[in-house]
This record gives sequence, structure tokens and C-alpha cells, in this order.
Amino acid sequence: MFDIPQAARPGILYIVATPIGNLRDLTLHALDVLRTADLIAAEDTRNSRGLLAAYGIQARLTPLHEHNEQAAASRLVATLQAGKSVAYVSDAGTPGISDPGARLVAAARAAGVAVVPIPGASAVATALSVSGLESPWLFVGFLPAKPAGRRRELEGLRDLPYALVFYEAPHRVEETVADLRAVLGDERRILFARELTKRFEQLHACPLSEAEAWLEADENHRRGEFVLVLDPPAAKEDNDTAEAHRVLALLLEELPVKQAAQLAARLTGARKNALYQLALEMKQGESDGPTDNHPA
Ligand code: SAM
Repeated sequence: MFDIPQAARPGILYIVATPIGNLRDLTLHALDVLRTADLIAAEDTRNSRGLLAAYGIQARLTPLHEHNEQAAASRLVATLQAGKSVAYVSDAGTPGISDPGARLVAAARAAGVAVVPIPGASAVATALSVSGLESPWLFVGFLPAKPAGRRRELEGLRDLPYALVFYEAPHRVEETVADLRAVLGDERRILFARELTKRFEQLHACPLSEAEAWLEADENHRRGEFVLVLDPPAAKEDNDTAEAHRVLALLLEELPVKQAAQLAARLTGARKNALYQLALEMKQGESDGPTDNHPA
């Protein structure tokens, strides 16, 4: 059922992801919809005409960008309510992610028009997929352009226990990286995900203390499009872990392993099973006698 072409259906708004560099990163489902939609709304019609031409698609195009989104959205909703199918594409990647599209979706939904996502490339997911991070992450997108606002925003993000993901343009990457170091500190690690899926794609990870030197080392390092991925703040994690260990050690002086681990987990928020294993190791270190071997 799902391996046959799926044409656009009447009265539906399709939000279609397009490639972020490599033109072949357009899904078969996106092609089906773009080939058959009555109308394609695009952030930049000239730009999208190029992508469509590469796939032999000649479509009716209409602009919807950040400066006309509200008015264009109203017109498109009327078109949808008249029973036409509409696909929306931004310049690259997934609409609504640091791109126009959200107001169109909200207007469609408010009018009772069905909205269907056609997933595909997005720079944030692409960068995270090669970050090697397992931690939860927060997508920030573009930081404010002015230094004061940028630093204020970074201060609010500094202690959150998440990896942070930013988009950045080449003309601002140096000042942003300098502010990242100033606010987040030397130790925190950054991944530069540059020109993803393109010819000069590059991934480079280092502590923030080395990031400015890396940008300086080669002018190509400052070119193109960037996703910046910052590891979560390790220092806080270490502090939390140290606190959990301290509490556990105290409780073990009075309680059996299982109860000590349970109580330490409740007091510190650390994971019960990890504390249980640690408590076993602590006890093992003290004596070679029998231990309570059943996980809590
Ligand atoms: N909607 C897009 C998405 O889903 O990723 C993002 C559009 S936003 C206007 C453009 C920014 O995304 C760029 O400045 C850059 O930070 C990031 N970006 C887009 N394509 C990229 C690529 N191929 N490599 C690295 N970053 C990219």
C-alpha cells in the first residue's frame, strides 16, 4: 500500500522537506506530492524552480516568505478550501524549522484544513545524527545577531543539562564562537557541522578553547553553512555524580545496599540502578563477604 506513488489529495496542505545540499536527498514521497500538487507555494520561487527543474517538474508556483506569510497564508487557505492541493517548500530543509511555514500551518489548522508532513532533510537532525551524542538536546536555531542579546541568551542556556544546537551563518560564526567560549567556558566541546551533504562537508569537534584557533587556521573553515552542536555541561554532571556518591557512602554506613541506593536516588535524583551497582562495588571494596545481589 505504501510502496505505490502517493499523489497529492484535494484540499490538503503538504509541508514538504527538500534537500539541504545534495539534490538526491529528496524523498520519493516528496516527489510524488510535488509532481501532483495543484499549486506549490515556495519561500523563494526562483530557488525552488531550480530544484523542481532538476526532477523535470513544471509546477505552478506562488511565493510565501517571512515578509508576506500572513497574507499569502490566507490566500492559500482559501485555495485549499476550494478543494485544491497545495505543497509548501522552503529554500532548503524542513519548512518551519528556522524557516517560514509555521504561520501557514497555523492558519490552515485554524480553518480546519488538513496538514500533512512530508519528512526529509533538516540540518539539525543531520548534524545530530553524526554528533555521537546520546544526551537530550535543545534546538536553539539562530542566536540574536547583536552581541548583548546573544550573550544574554547564552547565559540563560549555559546551565541547562542539554546539548545545544545552533544554526549560524559564515559571516557571524567567529563572533558567535567567541561568545560561546566566553559564556559556556573553555571546556565545553563543540562540533562544527559545516556544509552538510555538500561537496566540502566537514565535521570537526574540539573543546571551545580550541575552536577560534580552528576557525582561524584555514579560511575554508569559516565558509558555508554551519550547525554548531555543544555537548551538555559536563562539569554539572560531574558535580551531581559526586554529590550522589557522597550521599550514598554516608547512607551505606547505616543501611543495607538496596535501601541505601533507593534513598540516595530519591535524595539526589541520580539513577537507582547505577547507584545500586556503585553501592555493591563500595561494599565489595570494604569486604569480600556476601552482598545483596538483587537489583532494586
Ligand atoms: N529549514 C532548514 C532546516 O530544516 O535545516 C534550515 C533553514 S535556516 C534558514 C538555514 C541555516 O540552516 C543555515 O544558516 C545553517 O545554519 C543551517 N544549514 C542549512 N543547510 C545546511 C548544511 N547543508 N550544512 C550545515 N548547516 C546547514
